Amino acid sequence: MALELRPNCEYCDRDLPPDAVDALICTFECTFCARCAEERLRNVCPNCGGGFQIRPIRPRTEWRAGLSLAQRPASTRRIALSYAREDIAAFTERLSRIPPASR
Ligand SMILES: [Zn+2]
Ligand SMILES: [Zn+2]
Repeated sequence: MALELRPNCEYCDRDLPPDAVDALICTFECTFCARCAEERLRNVCPNCGGGFQIRPIRPRTEWRAGLSLAQRPASTRRIALSYAREDIAAFTERLSRIPPASR
């Protein structure tokens, strides 16, 4: 199963195309732009509480059979957070004090 490359930031809804260099994901593939992940979420995923890493870029060129962006396209289903902004702020405030490896 391949990583689901989601099309937008779940916080600000900015487009994050598959070749975006500023897309971050958690282990559940929740996806955010770097600005939201750092400034608003402070490395706390509002869905699961985990930290973020930079989303890898799937190759455009089919260097190996069947494994390019054309063969395994990005998701087109936009996702939005279901929590209120105040809830997210409180959650972030609480968890950002704990390093991801200790959460
Ligand atoms: Zn964003
Ligand atoms: Zn998450």
